[in-house]
Amino acid sequence: MRWYQLDVDRVEQKLHVTSNRGLNVKQVEQRRKQYGSNILEGQKHTPRWLLFLKQFQDFMVLVLLAATLIAGLLGEYIDAIAIMVIVLVNGCIGYFQEQKAEKSLDKLKELSAPMANVLRNENWEKINSRDIVVGDVVKMNSGDRIPADIRIVKSNSMETEESALTGESLPVVKHATAIESNHLEAQDQVNMGFMGTLVTRGSGVGIVVGTGMHTVMGQIASLMVSTKKMSTPLENKLAELGKILIVVALVLTALVVGVGVFQGHPVYSMFLAGVSLAVAAIPEGLPAIVTVALSLGVQRMIRKRAIVRKLSAVETLGSASVICSDKTGTMTENQMTVKEVYVNGSQLYVTGDGYDIQGDYFLEEDKIDTDFPNLEAMLLYGMLCNNASLQVKKGKYNVDGDPTDGALLIAARKMGLTSSLGDKYRMVKEIPFDSDRKRMSVIVEDENNMRFLITKGAPDVLLPRSTFHMEEGGRKVLNKAAKSNINQAVDQMAEKALRTIAIGIKSIPKDESLNTAFIEDDLTFIGLYGMIDPPRKEVQSAIEECRQAGIKTVMITGDHVKTASAIAQKLHLLPEHGRVLEGHQLNQLSISELEDVIDDTFVFARVTPEHKLKIVKAFQKKGHIVAMTGDGVNDAPAIKASDIGISMGMSGTDVTKEASSLVLMDDNFATIKSAIQEGRNIYENIRKFIRYLLASNVGEILVMLFAMLLALPLPLVPVQILWVNLVTDGLPAMALGMDKAEGDVMKRRPRNPREGVFARGMGYKIISRGIMIGLVTLIAFMLTYQNNPDNLVYGQTVAFTTLVMAQLIHVFDCRSENSIFSRNPFENIYLVLAVLSSLLLLLVVIYWEPLQPIFHTIFLSLRDWIFILVLSAIPTVLFGYTKK
Ligand code: ADP
Ligand code: MG
Repeated sequence: MRWYQLDVDRVEQKLHVTSNRGLNVKQVEQRRKQYGSNILEGQKHTPRWLLFLKQFQDFMVLVLLAATLIAGLLGEYIDAIAIMVIVLVNGCIGYFQEQKAEKSLDKLKELSAPMANVLRNENWEKINSRDIVVGDVVKMNSGDRIPADIRIVKSNSMETEESALTGESLPVVKHATAIESNHLEAQDQVNMGFMGTLVTRGSGVGIVVGTGMHTVMGQIASLMVSTKKMSTPLENKLAELGKILIVVALVLTALVVGVGVFQGHPVYSMFLAGVSLAVAAIPEGLPAIVTVALSLGVQRMIRKRAIVRKLSAVETLGSASVICSDKTGTMTENQMTVKEVYVNGSQLYVTGDGYDIQGDYFLEEDKIDTDFPNLEAMLLYGMLCNNASLQVKKGKYNVDGDPTDGALLIAARKMGLTSSLGDKYRMVKEIPFDSDRKRMSVIVEDENNMRFLITKGAPDVLLPRSTFHMEEGGRKVLNKAAKSNINQAVDQMAEKALRTIAIGIKSIPKDESLNTAFIEDDLTFIGLYGMIDPPRKEVQSAIEECRQAGIKTVMITGDHVKTASAIAQKLHLLPEHGRVLEGHQLNQLSISELEDVIDDTFVFARVTPEHKLKIVKAFQKKGHIVAMTGDGVNDAPAIKASDIGISMGMSGTDVTKEASSLVLMDDNFATIKSAIQEGRNIYENIRKFIRYLLASNVGEILVMLFAMLLALPLPLVPVQILWVNLVTDGLPAMALGMDKAEGDVMKRRPRNPREGVFARGMGYKIISRGIMIGLVTLIAFMLTYQNNPDNLVYGQTVAFTTLVMAQLIHVFDCRSENSIFSRNPFENIYLVLAVLSSLLLLLVVIYWEPLQPIFHTIFLSLRDWIFILVLSAIPTVLFGYTKK
């Protein structure tokens, strides 16, 4: 017998579990030992030795190694060995950095790992899906990925999409009853849920029958492709730049070798000069430092509660010019409290805050009791048409489930109605809430076997479906006057920023089909709830900061226009002449018409998830880089279409998380702002060290080139150039990658995403500083060499030292787009330490005798040092105070 053929009782028996208790700790432990974790194997890491070898597959490194080999064959053993060692050390550093980056990516994966709702020891817990074992009872809602293979024991109109397994994208309706036939394929086992497939509608509960590789998905896991690490746009641009530099280097080498040989110089020394130039032209350390800066930035973002799912988002964030944010839960607390109730034609006020169950009902000044007409019935209906439950922890009440539903439970509780009342009713069917329908219904049977339907939802959705309304004397026809009274009450609540929910009922004859499309029509309107959802405290200032950073914030909500506008005004999001658009208006506008008004629009109300896609497209057509938030299943297309898709870590569904590039761990709008700030900072830091490293390369090329043109010997030997590029420049560059943001980073306009690596004056800065660094190095060499023509090593040591010192001073200029004086040089402690270490390393290769022959150095005197320091300060002194 297979699982789908067994009754639920038999499944429970076989797995020693009951679906209302769940497993106990002992069972879980024992089963995990027996079956292992609930993971699919096959997504293996690159083996370590391969990762190590990969460090040397870079074309540049290969050229270098070939050159070294030839130098070795020509008898330059010391140089050859020295270069080998530097390349090897650099390879090791690259290896460790890459491993670290991979680890931090693993950590990211861990953080955004799917969670599952399981019942253990009679308590619902949220656990990592990896820890699920056979026999666990799991609950799934629409938008969840099913975490393991399960036998369904309860289905509330649950539908799943199993294309990942079967290729079939039509939803499958799931139920709990056993199926008799033998040999059913997965797609026909409609009482089973399969790992990796998606709940698209409704909700359900199931018992896990297979985990990890023992699932249908596990059987085909070996066919799945593992996810690759994708490069970011900047990394791609840098790779391009690297290729150009290699070509430049090769051309230069060929030129020098050709001209030199033609002039009659020995081939060997010309070849060495060519290699030296090639080494000088290429920033060997750059790619590794970019990777490190990105992964460090990602970790800083985690500390600010933003998880990056796609590394490219780190860069795109800095270009964001519009944030389209959900209102409920992102800008507001998502802690609903019913403040007003409209029933029997009267407006009642409810006291009490949050989920506290203390509170009373008032009609103007008078406290109201349960005998107020229709009130108790309305509260009861609100409890029955409900998916939340109240939980008490340390005397404090909390809502498990949708806060909107939770608020209704608390409101009922304030009148003394407890959940035990609901036990008298039998649930026949539920039609779940979703943001498209904007309503939810249940069909229940009371003790006398009378059936009726309760619908709750947005008033403007419910009223057109109502033909009657309830008054003190009983049911009346809902005429125009009555409708207008109710609409007035809705407006009046919405203007106070209250979220409105209407509730209606209808009796259903036993023989009537429950599946008609009209089942929610002809309702009797009972009353309205108005609930407050206070804005999050940090949001107003975050919106303001974004505005100063040239980023527009737009609110998107399914709520009533007036509710949305009232909250938008509270948050200072909606300027005086700002537009508010409603879903039905959006339907009528074509994309181009929408483009005309979208720049003036700040609030979109009563929208459905489909509208979000239209909004994203219109903004993008206007040239914006759009960040879009979402939580429900239907939000996924808009999230995917946006430039930065953002999902909610707490309330978001698996589908939206998978579609997104950024996850907010705390669902908070303010976290988006922090992430953008961090994104801008990371990009600026990368610019800083690109500027720093390339200026050094420009300087090196110029020194070498000019020396050759002037028929001087080479001022720097390849080992020295490599030492500068990889070691003495490397540490400060890395420290620049950890620099704090400049004070005005959130006062600038968003970055143009198409801007090149050298945009905003950086090309000029690199070249001007590079020329100066090259020049002072050349002067240092020439003066020393002229006075000591037979001591070339002396001249080379002075040139080498000048180059390093000029860079170590120049690094402080790179911290700012403005003048060097706009920043405190000691602010970045890593930088100070890095500069000191580079200096120490320099001293070691100059003054430690065994190293002198390797690095072509000799002792320098104090006079030499003064000479060097004066020269090496010139580039920064000359340019540091300007913005240009
Ligand atoms: P948002 O999340 O943007 O605030 P929703 O789409 O969740 O908007 O809600 C839109 C409207 O649907 C609400 O204004 C409310 O009237 C109604 N509504 C919200 N949640 C529920 C629910 N659980 N049951 C019934 N109606 C609801
Ligand atoms: Mg909602």
